[in-house]
Amino acid sequence: MSSPNPAQPLTYHLGHQLPETGRAIEVAPGVYWLRMGLPFALNHINLWLLRDLLPDPHDAGRLREGWTVVDCGIDNPATRTAWEEVETSTLQGLPILRVIVTHMHPDHMGLAHWLCERWRAPLWMGLAEYQAARIACANTSGLGSAAALRFFAQHGWNREEDLAVVKQHMNHYAEMVPAVPNHLVRLRDGMPLRIGQRQWRCMSGLGHSPEHMALWCEADALFISGDMLLPSISSNISVYHHEPESDPITWFIESLAHMRAMLPDACLVLPSHGSPFRGAHTRIDQLQAHHAERLSELKQACTQKACSAHDALPILFKRSLNQQQMAFAMGEAIAHLHALWHAGQVQRQLDPSDGVYRFRSLTVESH
Ligand SMILES: [Zn+2]
Repeated sequence: MSSPNPAQPLTYHLGHQLPETGRAIEVAPGVYWLRMGLPFALNHINLWLLRDLLPDPHDAGRLREGWTVVDCGIDNPATRTAWEEVETSTLQGLPILRVIVTHMHPDHMGLAHWLCERWRAPLWMGLAEYQAARIACANTSGLGSAAALRFFAQHGWNREEDLAVVKQHMNHYAEMVPAVPNHLVRLRDGMPLRIGQRQWRCMSGLGHSPEHMALWCEADALFISGDMLLPSISSNISVYHHEPESDPITWFIESLAHMRAMLPDACLVLPSHGSPFRGAHTRIDQLQAHHAERLSELKQACTQKACSAHDALPILFKRSLNQQQMAFAMGEAIAHLHALWHAGQVQRQLDPSDGVYRFRSLTVESH
């Protein structure tokens, strides 16, 4: 995709500053940045605290001062302790009035149940995300389930010893998200949301999760992007076994295009990983170019021989992958092949000899 302007580099107005665990940095008046640890290669998540003012449920004529939290961190002792520190370092004696979650992934959703209960605060999130979280938390259809293993095998990842490792991660989600609140206030695409003195609008995005909800404040040019727009890594875009025909790369690219049309380049993007930055258009262009390049490499490979998603891994991932990363990499490889398949650029065939889906470019001459 070409851009009318030469790409400007992203700018980070806070430089190398990072909030210490349990403390916050104010990034705009009444908007505070928290950073919590994660026990993965991606070792942190950003959470946001917004000053808020909501009607007092016990006294309709009164407004209650407090905070809205956006995203929660995973449920482990270290993150609970960090939140307890935030109570003394940052909350100024005011309560958390509501908990907004951008999407159901464990680093965003994990402690929602704990924060909602601790503060008697309601959960606000997209309905599809909420339902997906409840299903994943009930732990019957997770990453290591028989259905997921069958799905991976159908895409060429069928070595017994590899799948045994995936199986061990069956309870992965529920370990980090042991409970989900029993009820929610539903966020919808385009829904206006008053938080304190600011008017925000929900912006849903597809591809990374079922119904990701970002928040846009036009008056102050602030964008809480969740995992839909990250400054230095590309979001995981995977096909999952419960939706085996999906086309999330195309959905993601379409969502980015919508976002590009809505946001000015100079807005301050508050992402879930990495630092707040400016240059939304540049970053969206980079991500679209990145996916386009991978799709073209993959299409080329499918011209030479029919490829399964497993065959596509070395084309898409130049680094070596450990077995935990393999499940995510497989999901991404299937997603890229599906983007070509749904666009009519490759055809898909289930090989009767081994039950594996292979994709072949339609430009190849048949004989
Ligand atoms: Zn995510």
